[in-house]
Amino acid sequence: MAASYYLTLDIGGTKISAALFTRYGEIAGDIVLTAKTETFRGEEAVYRNVRNLLNELLMRHQLETGEILGIGVGSPGPLDTKRGIILHAPLMKWRNFPVLDRLTADFNLPARLDNDGNLGALAEQRRGAAIDLRNILYMTVSTGCGGGILINGEIYRGANDGAGEVGHMSIDPEGLECPCGSRGCFELYASGTALLNTMKADMAAGKKSRVFTLAGNDGEKLSGYHLDEAAALGDTYALALYRKEGYYLGVGLANLFNLFDPQAIVLGGGITKGRRFFHQTMMDTLKERCEQPINDDSVRYSEMNDRVVLYGAFFLIREYVEKRI
Ligand SMILES: [Zn+2]
Repeated sequence: MAASYYLTLDIGGTKISAALFTRYGEIAGDIVLTAKTETFRGEEAVYRNVRNLLNELLMRHQLETGEILGIGVGSPGPLDTKRGIILHAPLMKWRNFPVLDRLTADFNLPARLDNDGNLGALAEQRRGAAIDLRNILYMTVSTGCGGGILINGEIYRGANDGAGEVGHMSIDPEGLECPCGSRGCFELYASGTALLNTMKADMAAGKKSRVFTLAGNDGEKLSGYHLDEAAALGDTYALALYRKEGYYLGVGLANLFNLFDPQAIVLGGGITKGRRFFHQTMMDTLKERCEQPINDDSVRYSEMNDRVVLYGAFFLIREYVEKRI
């Protein structure tokens, strides 16, 4: 049988996901396998988990590597995409880890690597919310905030693979200190982690809200789920917190619109589950601060959710392989 499948990987700080794609872009059998990353065991153990998961996937589909065309890999940055090296992933304890060389040696297949933000942008333009557009930005808002830039349908990586670091654009020069060394970084205000920190601090300060009672007044149990529940019940605190989220997102997105004037920005990540509570404030803030005309179509939401990086990894490797044929 001729080779006609692609392997894809999404390597995250807590879990690794893998899926087999047909050459037409469907997830074979709709099967996505996951495994714990186990970062605490060190980089060799993490890589072993990656390799085992790919082997498990091949076994599930009863395929040999000869039937695979290549491997697409998504990982948090910073990366060297040309050399296929994960330069520094603090969450995974990886430093200058040559993930592509290792995969190529173990599976004898071509492999390509890119970061989550770039792959999100690629996936959304190739088959997602921005399929009708050529110039877009993608932003994921979850634990942190990542981004990707697509110009004329191609990933814009910058001079050092560093483009799209939207989480570290400063929105307050004298603001909170960021581990990156800067101050007032966007993700310190708009990420899911930022929301959670605010809720914890407010609970500890004795503020009253359904959010806190729903979490049993236990700061460790607090989550976005409780915030959504409380907002749906009309809780004043939860709704105000979401409006603040909308405000920060609007400020951040306005910077991106003013700099890139994209046809649209696609938003993904866990926070978008609460979009009905922040969308209006975000759009109002955006319209106030943008030079460009902003309409209802300017901001779109990802519908691929936690599969977006796998889809991006698929398009990355398929396009690489097809160019070589
Ligand atoms: Zn920062």
